[in-house]
Amino acid sequence: MFRSHTNGELRISDKGKQVTLAGWVQTVRKFGAITFVDLRDRYGITQLLFGEELNRELEENPLGREFVLQATGTVNERSNKNPNLPTGEIEILVSSFKILNRSAVPPFTIQDDTDGGDDLRMKYRFLDLRRNLVKKNLELRYAVNRAARNYLHGQGFMDIETPFLIKSTPEGARDFVVPSRMNPGQFYALPQSPQTFKQLLMVSGYDRYYQIVKCFRDEDLRADRQPEFTQIDCEMAFVEQDDILNMFEGMVKHIFQEVKGIAYTEKVQRMTWEDAMWNYGNDKPDIRFDMSLLNLKKPGSVYVEKQDRSELLNDTGFKVFDEAETVLAIAAPGCSEYSRKQTDELTEWVKRPQIGMKGLAFIKCNTDGTYKSSMDKFFTEEKLKAIADAAGAKAGDLVLILAGAEERTRKAISDLRMEMAERLGLRKKDEFRLLWVLDFPLFEYDEEGNRWVARHHPFTSPKPAQIDTMISNDPVIHNAEEYLKHPYANIKANAYDMVLNGNEIGGGSIRIYQRELQEKMFAALGMDKEEQLHKFGFLLGAFEYGAPPHGGIAFGFDRLCSILGGSESIRDFIAFPKNNAGRDVMLDAPATIDQKQFDELQIKLNLK
Ligand code: ASP
Repeated sequence: MFRSHTNGELRISDKGKQVTLAGWVQTVRKFGAITFVDLRDRYGITQLLFGEELNRELEENPLGREFVLQATGTVNERSNKNPNLPTGEIEILVSSFKILNRSAVPPFTIQDDTDGGDDLRMKYRFLDLRRNLVKKNLELRYAVNRAARNYLHGQGFMDIETPFLIKSTPEGARDFVVPSRMNPGQFYALPQSPQTFKQLLMVSGYDRYYQIVKCFRDEDLRADRQPEFTQIDCEMAFVEQDDILNMFEGMVKHIFQEVKGIAYTEKVQRMTWEDAMWNYGNDKPDIRFDMSLLNLKKPGSVYVEKQDRSELLNDTGFKVFDEAETVLAIAAPGCSEYSRKQTDELTEWVKRPQIGMKGLAFIKCNTDGTYKSSMDKFFTEEKLKAIADAAGAKAGDLVLILAGAEERTRKAISDLRMEMAERLGLRKKDEFRLLWVLDFPLFEYDEEGNRWVARHHPFTSPKPAQIDTMISNDPVIHNAEEYLKHPYANIKANAYDMVLNGNEIGGGSIRIYQRELQEKMFAALGMDKEEQLHKFGFLLGAFEYGAPPHGGIAFGFDRLCSILGGSESIRDFIAFPKNNAGRDVMLDAPATIDQKQFDELQIKLNLK
């Protein structure tokens, strides 16, 4: 027997037992004639005590950090107990030991507060993975995986694998491609997601499909993205949007329960995309706190149905607001006593290039009932009060106002809202708030190409009441300036995102399942008949053989894990992640290949 117990297992109740342990040497501490060794494995740490006799052996054969050791001995009660360690009441009085393997001195310490920098740890990721902190993350990932599988299995879903070597499925990113040796000059693409396959499975009658699956997207890596990442990918047939929402909020609640012990009993709040943008300036609002927007002024062409409060800005002569397209405000709770220095600093914050505002106006709602603002020259105290009231400010709050072009200002106030919440400690790591955002626009305007692109992907269906608008209107945008007046700008999709604490954790849609509508969709995105057949002939063809109504969703598995684990970074939850430049620094990949491989593929490099 190699080992009788793991290093996390023994307790005081095992006192007197003969045991054999194996693991890695965490620390060696010599005290005169005796030596203590902390032995570590995946399950924990156990203290070994080497007495005088064995110490001589140790002197000849010294142990070092990360040596692999097997030790046999008796479980002893410790005189100096360690309450922080589950095995802290015992130690092993070693009678014999064997060094199973030696280790070079590790380039960083294998402990929670390691001295290793990011690059070094990634280079030696196999050592980094020995650290308790990283291990905990992978354990959590596995727990989320198990919980998702159990739930979906219980609901009759079937895990069906789909291929990795496929033809391009555009989902808005660039494809990774793989040359085919057997078909010189031809390439496979790696799937950006199994989207078309899961839809084909619906046509085939597998009406509840899921897969926890790798997806590949060759994007410029913005912070915290990975070129290969994992999705919980799902599809259902014979469903309406509500069926999907209910099924998958059930899944996320199940994961909360199993992984975090959180009973999320309330129904997940639902909000339209338009309301999310109007009230929070963001399509994935963090609703753990309120601070919703006061729309003081909106441009006429956006949010046509919504009523702004521009009457509050009448007759002030304040040019900045008069000339701005959009004016938005939030009330920061308890900040009325901000000093000049603090408001100046906030003003600088909104002027940073990432935020891009020209300035910041504010109203202090003093606790004595008076109002003081940065625009006192233009606004009577009565007006200030009216605005503050409309923003939902109470005595002691600080109203922050931004003005400028619609898109930029809305994004800026959303960023400012998040920043203030962060400063005020309102983004609590241990609080989880889910939200469904519904009814996204079907199309997005691409300024560069003066054309429509699919906001979700080209397989997403429009709201049934708007199918006619789509079919009967020409997609061509004749007047780029006024694209918002094009009938397509207002078409809403049967698409939904699940948002957790301000992060999009999942997204999906009810799909198009009729050939005619799918063709119209492709055409709207600028694909002529030939291109449609070349790229999606298989799908259009399948829709002619009894495609059922269907829809689905995919969850970002890495992201979900990182949020549940209270971390900002998905890399911490991936065993072998890539760095921000898309490199695996451990393997040193990507790398060049042998000339022989190029020859077999009949590929010649033409590097610029
Ligand atoms: N395939 C989509 C995505 O990866 C998800 C879906 O529509 O189910 O975003």
